[in-house]
Amino acid sequence: KQLGRNRVSLFAAARAALARPTPAEAHAADLGEAVEDDCFVPYFQPLVDLDTREVIGAEALCRWQHPRHGLLPPAAFISTAEGNGLIRDIDRAIIRKVCAQMAEWRERSRGSLPISLNVSAATMTEPGFVRFLSDCCQEFNVAPQELVVELTESMLLLADDPGRRSLKRIRELGVEVALDDFGTGFSTLSLLKDLPVTRLKIDRSFVVHIDNNRRDREIVSSIVSLGHALGADVVVEGVETESQAEAIAGIGDMIGQGYLFGKPMPAAELAACATWNCDYVATRA
Ligand code: C2E
Ligand code: MG
Ligand code: MG
Ligand code: MG
Repeated sequence: KQLGRNRVSLFAAARAALARPTPAEAHAADLGEAVEDDCFVPYFQPLVDLDTREVIGAEALCRWQHPRHGLLPPAAFISTAEGNGLIRDIDRAIIRKVCAQMAEWRERSRGSLPISLNVSAATMTEPGFVRFLSDCCQEFNVAPQELVVELTESMLLLADDPGRRSLKRIRELGVEVALDDFGTGFSTLSLLKDLPVTRLKIDRSFVVHIDNNRRDREIVSSIVSLGHALGADVVVEGVETESQAEAIAGIGDMIGQGYLFGKPMPAAELAACATWNCDYVATRA
Protein backbone atom coordinates (compact mmCIF):
# COMPACT_ATOMS: atom_id res chain seq x y z
CA LYS A 1 0.00 0.00 0.00
CA GLN A 2 2.94 2.32 0.58
CA LEU A 3 3.43 2.30 -3.15
CA GLY A 4 -0.03 3.74 -3.79
CA ARG A 5 -3.41 2.39 -4.66
CA ASN A 6 -4.55 0.61 -7.77
CA ARG A 7 -1.05 -0.30 -8.91
CA VAL A 8 -1.36 -3.89 -9.88
CA SER A 9 2.20 -4.23 -11.17
CA LEU A 10 3.67 -2.62 -8.08
CA PHE A 11 1.68 -4.83 -5.76
CA ALA A 12 3.04 -7.82 -7.60
CA ALA A 13 6.57 -6.48 -7.37
CA ALA A 14 6.22 -5.79 -3.66
CA ARG A 15 4.92 -9.27 -3.03
CA ALA A 16 7.79 -10.81 -4.94
CA ALA A 17 10.29 -8.77 -2.96
CA LEU A 18 8.77 -9.95 0.30
CA ALA A 19 8.95 -13.58 -0.68
CA ARG A 20 12.52 -14.06 -1.85
CA PRO A 21 14.77 -12.20 -4.21
CA THR A 22 14.03 -13.02 -7.83
CA PRO A 23 17.09 -14.06 -9.84
CA ALA A 24 17.04 -10.61 -11.39
CA GLU A 25 17.06 -8.87 -8.01
CA ALA A 26 19.90 -11.04 -6.86
CA HIS A 27 21.97 -9.58 -9.68
CA ALA A 28 21.70 -6.24 -7.95
CA ALA A 29 24.49 -7.41 -5.66
CA ASP A 30 26.99 -6.47 -8.36
CA LEU A 31 25.39 -3.13 -9.09
CA GLY A 32 28.36 -1.11 -7.82
CA GLU A 33 30.72 -2.95 -10.09
CA ALA A 34 28.34 -2.43 -13.00
CA VAL A 35 28.43 1.32 -12.43
CA GLU A 36 32.24 1.27 -12.44
CA ASP A 37 32.29 -0.84 -15.59
CA ASP A 38 29.79 1.41 -17.34
CA CYS A 39 27.30 -1.36 -18.06
CA PHE A 40 24.14 0.75 -18.42
CA VAL A 41 22.76 1.69 -21.81
CA PRO A 42 19.72 3.61 -22.95
CA TYR A 43 17.11 1.85 -25.07
CA PHE A 44 14.72 4.09 -26.95
CA GLN A 45 10.97 3.74 -27.27
CA PRO A 46 9.30 5.88 -29.93
CA LEU A 47 6.67 8.52 -29.21
CA VAL A 48 4.39 8.98 -32.19
CA ASP A 49 1.97 11.42 -33.72
CA LEU A 50 -1.26 9.41 -33.51
CA ASP A 51 -2.54 10.74 -36.86
CA THR A 52 0.54 10.09 -39.00
CA ARG A 53 2.36 7.52 -36.82
CA GLU A 54 5.55 9.51 -37.40
CA VAL A 55 8.18 9.27 -34.66
CA ILE A 56 8.20 12.65 -32.95
CA GLY A 57 10.36 11.78 -29.95
CA ALA A 58 11.57 8.87 -27.86
CA GLU A 59 11.87 7.86 -24.24
CA ALA A 60 15.25 6.63 -23.04
CA LEU A 61 14.79 3.51 -20.88
CA CYS A 62 17.75 2.11 -18.99
CA ARG A 63 19.03 -1.43 -19.57
CA TRP A 64 21.82 -3.20 -17.68
CA GLN A 65 24.10 -5.16 -19.96
CA HIS A 66 25.06 -7.86 -17.48
CA PRO A 67 28.19 -9.82 -18.40
CA ARG A 68 26.59 -13.16 -17.45
CA HIS A 69 22.83 -12.61 -17.37
CA GLY A 70 22.38 -10.54 -20.49
CA LEU A 71 20.17 -7.51 -20.83
CA LEU A 72 18.29 -6.68 -17.60
CA PRO A 73 15.26 -4.37 -17.40
CA PRO A 74 14.83 -1.61 -14.77
CA ALA A 75 12.62 -3.86 -12.63
CA ALA A 76 15.74 -5.89 -11.87
CA PHE A 77 17.76 -3.03 -10.40
CA ILE A 78 16.19 0.45 -10.20
CA SER A 79 14.62 0.07 -6.76
CA THR A 80 17.85 -1.39 -5.37
CA ALA A 81 19.81 1.44 -6.94
CA GLU A 82 17.39 3.95 -5.44
CA GLY A 83 17.94 2.33 -2.07
CA ASN A 84 21.72 2.44 -2.11
CA GLY A 85 22.20 5.74 -3.93
CA LEU A 86 23.76 4.29 -7.07
CA ILE A 87 20.74 5.52 -9.04
CA ARG A 88 22.42 8.93 -9.24
CA ASP A 89 25.36 7.46 -11.11
CA ILE A 90 23.13 5.38 -13.34
CA ASP A 91 20.86 8.30 -14.21
CA ARG A 92 23.81 10.54 -15.01
CA ALA A 93 25.47 7.87 -17.13
CA ILE A 94 22.26 7.45 -19.12
CA ILE A 95 21.83 11.19 -19.57
CA ARG A 96 25.39 11.58 -20.94
CA LYS A 97 24.92 8.66 -23.31
CA VAL A 98 21.61 10.05 -24.53
CA CYS A 99 23.17 13.45 -25.24
CA ALA A 100 26.10 11.80 -27.03
CA GLN A 101 23.61 9.79 -29.10
CA MET A 102 21.65 12.90 -29.99
CA ALA A 103 24.87 14.53 -31.18
CA GLU A 104 25.63 11.52 -33.36
CA TRP A 105 22.16 11.54 -34.91
CA ARG A 106 22.51 15.22 -35.65
CA GLU A 107 25.89 14.68 -37.29
CA ARG A 108 24.36 11.98 -39.46
CA SER A 109 21.67 14.47 -40.46
CA ARG A 110 18.85 12.64 -38.76
CA GLY A 111 17.93 15.93 -37.08
CA SER A 112 17.25 16.41 -33.42
CA LEU A 113 14.53 14.20 -32.03
CA PRO A 114 13.43 15.25 -28.52
CA ILE A 115 14.36 12.59 -25.97
CA SER A 116 12.76 11.94 -22.59
CA LEU A 117 14.83 10.90 -19.58
CA ASN A 118 13.61 9.18 -16.43
CA VAL A 119 15.13 10.79 -13.37
CA SER A 120 14.76 9.54 -9.81
CA ALA A 121 14.18 11.85 -6.86
CA ALA A 122 17.66 11.30 -5.43
CA THR A 123 19.21 12.24 -8.75
CA MET A 124 17.14 15.32 -9.25
CA THR A 125 17.61 16.76 -5.78
CA GLU A 126 21.35 16.13 -5.68
CA PRO A 127 23.22 19.44 -5.57
CA GLY A 128 24.79 20.10 -8.93
CA PHE A 129 22.29 18.08 -10.96
CA VAL A 130 20.92 21.03 -12.92
CA ARG A 131 24.48 22.12 -13.59
CA PHE A 132 25.27 18.59 -14.80
CA LEU A 133 22.32 18.70 -17.20
CA SER A 134 23.36 22.02 -18.58
CA ASP A 135 27.00 20.89 -18.94
CA CYS A 136 25.85 17.81 -20.89
CA CYS A 137 23.84 20.02 -23.21
CA GLN A 138 26.85 22.24 -23.82
CA GLU A 139 29.31 19.41 -24.28
CA PHE A 140 27.18 17.68 -26.92
CA ASN A 141 25.59 20.78 -28.34
CA VAL A 142 22.09 19.63 -27.41
CA ALA A 143 19.45 22.32 -26.94
CA PRO A 144 17.86 21.96 -23.49
CA GLN A 145 14.50 22.27 -25.26
CA GLU A 146 15.19 18.88 -26.90
CA LEU A 147 15.23 17.13 -23.52
CA VAL A 148 12.29 16.09 -21.36
CA VAL A 149 12.81 15.05 -17.75
CA GLU A 150 10.19 12.51 -16.62
CA LEU A 151 9.25 12.37 -12.96
CA THR A 152 6.80 10.23 -11.07
CA GLU A 153 4.20 12.02 -8.99
CA SER A 154 4.72 10.18 -5.73
CA MET A 155 8.42 10.84 -6.03
CA LEU A 156 7.82 14.56 -6.33
CA LEU A 157 5.67 14.46 -3.27
CA LEU A 158 8.48 12.84 -1.32
CA ALA A 159 11.04 15.16 -2.81
CA ASP A 160 9.24 18.14 -1.32
CA ASP A 161 10.90 21.55 -1.37
CA PRO A 162 14.36 20.64 -2.72
CA GLY A 163 12.63 18.72 -5.51
CA ARG A 164 10.44 21.65 -6.36
CA ARG A 165 13.39 24.02 -6.39
CA SER A 166 15.45 21.93 -8.75
CA LEU A 167 12.38 21.40 -10.92
CA LYS A 168 11.97 25.14 -11.32
CA ARG A 169 15.64 25.45 -12.26
CA ILE A 170 15.34 22.63 -14.78
CA ARG A 171 12.50 24.56 -16.43
CA GLU A 172 14.52 27.79 -16.34
CA LEU A 173 17.25 25.95 -18.22
CA GLY A 174 14.68 25.18 -20.91
CA VAL A 175 14.37 21.43 -20.33
CA GLU A 176 10.77 20.16 -20.48
CA VAL A 177 9.25 18.41 -17.48
CA ALA A 178 6.79 15.51 -17.69
CA LEU A 179 4.77 13.87 -14.94
CA ASP A 180 5.09 10.12 -15.53
CA ASP A 181 2.44 7.51 -14.69
CA PHE A 182 -0.05 10.37 -14.34
CA GLY A 183 -3.19 9.50 -12.43
CA THR A 184 -1.67 6.88 -10.18
CA GLY A 185 0.10 9.09 -7.64
CA PHE A 186 -1.04 10.43 -4.31
CA SER A 187 -1.68 14.08 -4.85
CA THR A 188 -1.89 14.73 -8.53
CA LEU A 189 -3.93 17.89 -8.56
CA SER A 190 -2.24 19.75 -5.74
CA LEU A 191 1.12 19.04 -7.37
CA LEU A 192 -0.08 20.53 -10.63
CA LYS A 193 -1.21 23.62 -8.81
CA ASP A 194 2.25 25.16 -8.70
CA LEU A 195 4.66 22.87 -10.50
CA PRO A 196 5.99 23.98 -13.88
CA VAL A 197 4.99 20.81 -15.71
CA THR A 198 4.95 20.76 -19.53
CA ARG A 199 3.71 17.22 -20.17
CA LEU A 200 1.38 14.67 -18.61
CA LYS A 201 1.93 10.99 -19.32
CA ILE A 202 -1.28 9.09 -18.72
CA ASP A 203 -0.55 5.82 -16.99
CA ARG A 204 -0.99 2.57 -18.88
CA SER A 205 -3.65 1.40 -16.42
CA PHE A 206 -6.14 3.87 -17.94
CA VAL A 207 -5.42 2.57 -21.44
CA VAL A 208 -5.76 -1.19 -21.03
CA HIS A 209 -9.58 -1.17 -21.25
CA ILE A 210 -10.04 2.14 -23.00
CA ASP A 211 -11.72 0.54 -26.02
CA ASN A 212 -14.48 -1.01 -23.89
CA ASN A 213 -14.74 1.06 -20.74
CA ARG A 214 -16.53 4.40 -20.82
CA ARG A 215 -15.24 5.45 -17.40
CA ASP A 216 -11.63 5.08 -18.55
CA ARG A 217 -12.43 7.14 -21.64
CA GLU A 218 -13.98 9.87 -19.51
CA ILE A 219 -10.97 9.95 -17.21
CA VAL A 220 -8.52 10.15 -20.11
CA SER A 221 -10.63 12.83 -21.74
CA SER A 222 -10.56 14.87 -18.54
CA ILE A 223 -6.80 14.53 -18.18
CA VAL A 224 -6.36 15.76 -21.75
CA SER A 225 -8.53 18.82 -21.04
CA LEU A 226 -6.66 19.47 -17.83
CA GLY A 227 -3.24 19.10 -19.46
CA HIS A 228 -4.06 21.36 -22.38
CA ALA A 229 -5.67 23.95 -20.10
CA LEU A 230 -2.40 24.09 -18.15
CA GLY A 231 -0.35 24.45 -21.31
CA ALA A 232 1.00 20.89 -21.19
CA ASP A 233 0.92 18.24 -23.89
CA VAL A 234 -0.42 14.79 -23.11
CA VAL A 235 1.17 11.41 -23.83
CA VAL A 236 -0.77 8.20 -23.57
CA GLU A 237 1.38 5.25 -22.43
CA GLY A 238 1.03 1.55 -23.09
CA VAL A 239 -0.94 1.50 -26.35
CA GLU A 240 -0.82 -2.10 -27.51
CA THR A 241 -3.71 -2.55 -29.95
CA GLU A 242 -5.25 -0.76 -32.91
CA SER A 243 -8.55 -0.80 -31.07
CA GLN A 244 -7.01 1.15 -28.18
CA ALA A 245 -5.33 3.58 -30.58
CA GLU A 246 -8.66 4.17 -32.29
CA ALA A 247 -10.43 4.85 -29.00
CA ILE A 248 -7.69 7.29 -28.01
CA ALA A 249 -7.81 9.12 -31.33
CA GLY A 250 -11.53 9.61 -30.75
CA ILE A 251 -10.95 11.30 -27.41
CA GLY A 252 -8.56 14.12 -28.19
CA ASP A 253 -5.11 15.30 -29.15
CA MET A 254 -2.52 13.04 -27.58
CA ILE A 255 0.94 11.69 -28.34
CA GLY A 256 1.11 7.89 -28.45
CA GLN A 257 3.57 5.49 -26.87
CA GLY A 258 3.35 1.72 -26.62
CA TYR A 259 4.22 -1.63 -28.10
CA LEU A 260 1.82 -1.01 -31.01
CA PHE A 261 4.14 1.74 -32.26
CA GLY A 262 7.43 0.26 -31.08
CA LYS A 263 9.05 -1.44 -28.11
CA PRO A 264 12.13 0.01 -26.42
CA MET A 265 14.98 -0.63 -28.87
CA PRO A 266 18.70 0.03 -29.31
CA ALA A 267 19.66 3.43 -30.72
CA ALA A 268 20.56 1.99 -34.13
CA GLU A 269 17.10 0.48 -34.51
CA LEU A 270 15.41 3.75 -33.68
CA ALA A 271 17.64 5.47 -36.22
CA ALA A 272 16.41 2.96 -38.81
CA CYS A 273 12.77 3.97 -38.25
CA ALA A 274 11.90 5.54 -41.55
CA THR A 275 9.80 8.49 -40.53
CA TRP A 276 11.12 10.92 -38.01
CA ASN A 277 9.41 14.23 -37.64
CA CYS A 278 11.80 16.41 -35.68
CA ASP A 279 9.66 19.53 -35.92
CA TYR A 280 6.52 18.20 -34.34
CA VAL A 281 4.85 20.63 -32.00
CA ALA A 282 2.18 19.12 -29.81
CA THR A 283 -1.04 20.88 -29.01
CA ARG A 284 -0.77 23.03 -25.96
CA ALA A 285 -3.96 24.97 -25.90
P1 C2E B 1 8.15 4.38 -17.27
O1 C2E B 1 9.00 5.59 -17.32
O2 C2E B 1 6.71 4.57 -16.97
O3 C2E B 1 8.36 3.68 -18.68
C1 C2E B 1 7.38 2.96 -19.36
C2 C2E B 1 7.54 1.47 -19.15
O4 C2E B 1 6.45 0.79 -19.79
C3 C2E B 1 8.80 0.89 -19.79
O5 C2E B 1 9.22 -0.22 -19.01
C4 C2E B 1 8.30 0.44 -21.13
O6 C2E B 1 9.09 -0.57 -21.71
C5 C2E B 1 6.94 -0.10 -20.77
N1 C2E B 1 6.01 -0.07 -21.89
C6 C2E B 1 5.98 0.78 -22.92
N2 C2E B 1 4.98 0.52 -23.76
C7 C2E B 1 4.33 -0.54 -23.24
C8 C2E B 1 3.18 -1.30 -23.67
O7 C2E B 1 2.56 -1.05 -24.70
N3 C2E B 1 2.81 -2.34 -22.88
C9 C2E B 1 3.47 -2.66 -21.73
N4 C2E B 1 3.03 -3.70 -21.02
N5 C2E B 1 4.56 -1.97 -21.31
C10 C2E B 1 4.97 -0.92 -22.06
P2 C2E B 1 10.75 -0.43 -18.59
O8 C2E B 1 11.65 -0.08 -19.73
O9 C2E B 1 10.85 -1.79 -18.00
O10 C2E B 1 10.96 0.66 -17.46
C11 C2E B 1 10.27 0.59 -16.24
C12 C2E B 1 10.43 1.82 -15.40
O11 C2E B 1 11.78 1.95 -14.93
C13 C2E B 1 10.14 3.12 -16.13
O12 C2E B 1 8.74 3.33 -16.20
C14 C2E B 1 10.86 4.11 -15.27
O13 C2E B 1 10.06 4.49 -14.16
C15 C2E B 1 12.05 3.31 -14.75
N6 C2E B 1 13.27 3.69 -15.51
C16 C2E B 1 13.62 3.28 -16.75
N7 C2E B 1 14.81 3.82 -17.11
C17 C2E B 1 15.22 4.58 -16.06
C18 C2E B 1 16.37 5.42 -15.81
O14 C2E B 1 17.29 5.58 -16.64
N8 C2E B 1 16.43 6.05 -14.60
C19 C2E B 1 15.43 5.91 -13.65
N9 C2E B 1 15.58 6.57 -12.51
N10 C2E B 1 14.34 5.16 -13.86
C20 C2E B 1 14.23 4.49 -15.05
MG1 MG C 1 9.01 7.37 -18.08
MG1 MG D 1 5.26 5.76 -17.27
MG1 MG E 1 6.14 3.59 -14.91
